[in-house]
This record gives sequence, structure tokens and C-alpha cells, in this order.
Amino acid sequence: MNVPLLDLEAQYRSIQSEILEAVHEVLASQKFILGPAVTNLESRIAEALGCRHAVGVSSGSDALLMCLMAEGIGPGDEVITTPFTFFATVSAILRVGATPRFVDICPTTFNIDASRIAEAITKRTRAIMPVHLFGLCADMDAIMDCARDRGIIVIEDAAQAFGATYRGRHAGTIGDYGCYSFFPSKNLGGAGDGGMIVTNDDAKADRLRILRVQGASPKYHHQIVGGNFRLDTIQAAIVGVKLRHVVAWTEQRRANAARYFDLLAETTRRQTGLLSLPREPLHRRHVYNQFVVRLADRQRVRAGLSAAGIGTEIYYPVAAHLQPAVASLGLAAGAFPVSERCAQECLAIPIYPELPESALRAVAGALAGLAGGDPSEGSPMAVW
Ligand SMILES: *Cc1c(COP(=O)(O)O)cnc(C)c1O
Repeated sequence: MNVPLLDLEAQYRSIQSEILEAVHEVLASQKFILGPAVTNLESRIAEALGCRHAVGVSSGSDALLMCLMAEGIGPGDEVITTPFTFFATVSAILRVGATPRFVDICPTTFNIDASRIAEAITKRTRAIMPVHLFGLCADMDAIMDCARDRGIIVIEDAAQAFGATYRGRHAGTIGDYGCYSFFPSKNLGGAGDGGMIVTNDDAKADRLRILRVQGASPKYHHQIVGGNFRLDTIQAAIVGVKLRHVVAWTEQRRANAARYFDLLAETTRRQTGLLSLPREPLHRRHVYNQFVVRLADRQRVRAGLSAAGIGTEIYYPVAAHLQPAVASLGLAAGAFPVSERCAQECLAIPIYPELPESALRAVAGALAGLAGGDPSEGSPMAVW
């Protein structure tokens, strides 16, 4: 049975007429730059997330960059983040000339270990950028405690976490800024690139709106140096259609996760140390943008799944501090052992909303067969 990691064609088939109608409306209006679909999406997202402002931008990467620009963060400044993330989080810091300060992750959530942030704070620390990786919020209470009273800004990378909550509050709305991505494979994705920044601060929202149009206010009067960071109107129209469905899709992702927990319970209960499933801590709602398991023998299991026609992906094979692009930081292997270990053990399996029950069973069955063996056959996973 062929099971892709993600099936965007199945999603498109289910909403094709709505999408075509929304795109047609933009084409008929010929209002392509910050057209009504952008403003409309901004207000609907602000309402859905329970925050004051949402600013449509060109991508999730640019969203992160713009928040740092809006705060005037640059050379000589330090920004604390996680080494276990998509590299865009780190590039944003480097692109403004600031220095990333990494703090290792917690192995059960894959998110920054908030208990270790305080020791990484220096006089130069201007911001903390937690990532809500795979759709699960980082420990925001502890992170806000580190930032508060020290004048440190919190920029949440919520690119993978639309719909996730922390103690009932939406990802991205707890810190000073929250950044979303509409990259097609995200749980709320467009038909190209796009992103959104959310904030509860009026002045910050104004600044972001100026930054995204070359720092101009009014037109041709440039107050600051910005860029072309606008959300495309056709993308906004398409994301606007998907926003109507994302609650149901998220429920389906969570139902699929629950099925995996059920079907794989026996395998993990045997405590072979060969497979561990993602966790959802109390008071945090996981949206399973990815369903990521840890495997002692990832290479063999992945090859076995692939032979069975099952698509998987490794998010992320190399921890950020070991990427060639940041060699100048001088961080060697061993600097962040939990992240490095997760980079070797993590594997994402299919979780998309349209995943049929038969496919889900096939994945769980294959995984149990491959990873549920005798512990003496492989070296068990690290236990923290
Ligand atoms: C996707 C992603 C980004 C970047 O978003 P783009 O829209 O692709 O630029 C940033 N951070 C994380 C964690 C992501 O998953």
C-alpha cells in the first residue's frame, strides 16, 4: 500500500471549487497588492487566534526577520533560540547581523529547554525566539518568566503551530510577536509562499505594516529601511478558504495521532527502547503538523517503511549549530547533545488529515514490525 507523507492533492480535491472561486474573485478585481483578501484574512486570523493584530507578510522566514528588524536588533545583540529547528529561525538572526545563542532542547517535547534559558542570558540578550516545533507549544510560562523584567522581547516561531494552544492561549499570541508560515506543507498552507505576524501591541503592528512596504508611510516617504514583505493577495484568498477548514483538519490530525497512540501502545509498552512516540504535555494542545517518532535504528526502519511504500521525512537531520553556514560560531559536535541525538533519531510519519484508516493501520503495523523487535538487536535510544 502506497502511503505518502503528505497528500496535498487529496486536500485540493476536497476544496477545489472554493479555491477556484476565491482566486477568480481576485483576478476579476485586479487588486493584487494588499487587496481586500489580505485585509480580510488578517482580521479573521486575529479573531481566530484571539489577538489584536495580524499582519500578512511574504513568508514565515520574512516574518521572523521583520520582527527582529522592527526591534532594531542587529550587530552586537544576542538572540536565544533552539538548535533543533528549521534553519530559517537561525538565518533570521544572522541576517540582521545579530548572534544566535543556542539553548538545548527537552527530548520529550523537542522544544527549547526553558529551564536552561536563564544561564544563556547576557547583557547583550535582546530576544528569545522559541519554536513551537512540529505543532506543540514550547513552555511559554517559563520562557515569559525569563524575558519579563529584563526587557527581553519574545518572538514565537509558530510556523508549524497554527491552532496549537498553551493553557488555552494560541501559539504566537503569548510573546511580543508570533510568526506563521503559509508554506504549502504547513497545516495552514497556501499555494506558494506567505506568512503572518500576530501581535497585541498597536505600535509594533504599525511598525510592521510600514516595514512591509519598504518602510514607507505615506507612500514614497520612507521612515525606515524595510523591504517588500507583502503577503500576495492570491495567496491570502487561498489561505482564507483553507482557514474555513483548518479546525476540522486539525481535529482529524489529532484523531489520527490518537489512533497511532492506540495502535502502537503495545509496542512502546514493551519498553524496547527502540521507539518513542510524541507527547502532549498537560495544558498544551498539539496540532501534529508533523507526527515525529524517535527510533534507535532510524536508518533501518526508514528503509523498511520505504520498501513498504510508506513516505517519511527527517526533520531535521543536522542540528542548526552544526550547519556549515554557521561554522564561524565555532560550535562543535557535543555542544547540544539532546538536539544532536534527536537529529539522529527523529522520523516523521504520515499524519495528514485525509489519511485513510487503512493507510494509518498499514503505517502503524509496519512501524511496529520494524521497531518493535528484541532490544538486544540494536542499541537502545538515549534515555534522559
Ligand atoms: C516553515 C518554517 C519557517 C519558514 O517559513 P517559510 O514560510 O517557509 O519561510 C520558519 N520556521 C519554522 C519552524 C518552519 O517550520
